[in-house]
Amino acid sequence: MRIKTKLTYGIGILFTMILLLGMLSIYYTNKLSQDAQNIFTDNNNSLNYCRNMLIVLEDMSTSESALQAFTTNLKSQQKNVTETNEKEITDKLTFHFEEFKSKMNEPNIQKIRTDIYSIMNTNMNSISYKSELTKQTAHNAILWISIAFTICILFTLGLLFRFPQSILKTIKELTGGIMEIANHNYDKRLHFEPTSEFGEVSASFNKMAERLNEYRVSTLSDIIANKKYIEAIVNSITEPIIGLNNEKEILFINNEALNILNLKRENVIKKSAAELSLKNDLLRRLVRELVSPEEKKEPLKIYADDKESFFQAKYIPIRVIETGETEPHSIGDVILLKNITEFKELDSAKTTFISTISHELKTPISAIMMSLQLLEDKRIGQLNEEQESLSQSIKDNSERLLNITGELLKLTQVETGKLQLMPKITKPIELIDYAIKATRMLAEKFGCHIEVEYPEKIAKLFVDSEKIAWVLTNLLSNAIHYSKENSRIIIGARQIDNVVEMFVQDFGKGIDPRYHQSIFDRYFRVPGTKVQGSGLGLSISKDFIEAHDGSLSVESEVGKGSKFIIRFNVR
Ligand code: ADP
Repeated sequence: MRIKTKLTYGIGILFTMILLLGMLSIYYTNKLSQDAQNIFTDNNNSLNYCRNMLIVLEDMSTSESALQAFTTNLKSQQKNVTETNEKEITDKLTFHFEEFKSKMNEPNIQKIRTDIYSIMNTNMNSISYKSELTKQTAHNAILWISIAFTICILFTLGLLFRFPQSILKTIKELTGGIMEIANHNYDKRLHFEPTSEFGEVSASFNKMAERLNEYRVSTLSDIIANKKYIEAIVNSITEPIIGLNNEKEILFINNEALNILNLKRENVIKKSAAELSLKNDLLRRLVRELVSPEEKKEPLKIYADDKESFFQAKYIPIRVIETGETEPHSIGDVILLKNITEFKELDSAKTTFISTISHELKTPISAIMMSLQLLEDKRIGQLNEEQESLSQSIKDNSERLLNITGELLKLTQVETGKLQLMPKITKPIELIDYAIKATRMLAEKFGCHIEVEYPEKIAKLFVDSEKIAWVLTNLLSNAIHYSKENSRIIIGARQIDNVVEMFVQDFGKGIDPRYHQSIFDRYFRVPGTKVQGSGLGLSISKDFIEAHDGSLSVESEVGKGSKFIIRFNVR
């Protein structure tokens, strides 16, 4: 039943009961007052008249006023005949009074007295009967009013307890249902009476629970399907891949990675990579490189399936934007190992090829240079102007060729790891002098003024002087080539605490900051560079300096010039 109907019925019944109670009370009160009134008017008055008549009875024969009083009271009594027999007795009294009036003697008085007593008796009996009736009425009134009152109270109490309880029970059931849903029990259903106000609530609740259930089942299967799909993708990637969360636990790993790490899937998933790496050198290196990205990352050499393979590790941070947030945050990393064995093999073939060719070229170039020197000898014969210029051009180009083959050879030395350093204690000025001498002709050709900045006191270096002198020569040669004619070039050294710096500064075209990193890459040349070159000089120079645990860097601004700085730590 609807709460509204229950309330209407309850209050309606209560109202009717109260009305009934009120009517009963009015009815009985009325009846009782009527009875009392009846006794008073019907009988008490008669008794009063009789008493008055009795008082004056004895004096009637002697007193006119007594007779008068008797007559008045008798008349009143005649008008107040209410009981059965009372009329006959009153008539009898009237008759005997008339008799007395004609004959005033004691026997007649006696007759009158008897009649009066008889009337009084009748009224007394009637009073006693009527009070008995009134008592009965009062008793009934108390009974019915009590019954109505008790029913009223019981009904009110029933309404008072049952009604809130029935609402409370429903609300409790509803709260319980909501709690179950909150605890992910989407099978919970409510069964309220459909006609009640809560019927609609329970229908909506059940619909919501069903939808949530459907949603959970569908999302779960979707998630599982998507997970499997992603796992299949990860496994189908032919290169090793490892996914880690922020706690460095392995979330996924493909078969390739398991293979090269020599691990089993069941032993790694959800396990700490740091812990696993205690027993796995390769994983240890990967984790170390992941946590300290500033470390130089050499390719990994791995023996797997009886062959040597090379892998380049790539560490990709994974960042997501959570629902409701605007900033992405890290959820882990992916380690991708790129198999570079093929490139390595090709690179090694290329290095061998370059090395062989450079070697092979060196002898004929030297022979050409030798022949040119002979040609320039006046004893063989005088060259005319045109021939001299041709011979100079052949000489310049042969020198360039020799330089390039020299650079290529040095490169192959670095690449094959055959770079051998023969360090000795050297003063920086010796290296500077060597570089100046080696580029004197070139500087003269371009009219460059080379200035030297050298402090009085500077630490000596423990370096392979030939290699460092070659680097300085290369830097100075670049400074001359990339400056305008007749420019200033400064070469120098200085010491700041434990660091000895050697630098070559020019005021030439400068280098766009975009290329400050790339100029140290193999074969890289700033786009639009017209000066001829191989793009190897700076790259080899950097390798030479780093082989000495030093550093080579550039400070340059377009249009203002460049400064290349070599730094060595000295004790
Ligand atoms: P190469 O000079 O043979 O091209 P390098 O490795 O010595 O090769 O230099 C790489 C590139 O860096 C050059 O091609 C040139 O564009 C730029 N570069 C090097 N030194 C200077 C310099 N002093 N001023 C301007 N550009 C320079």
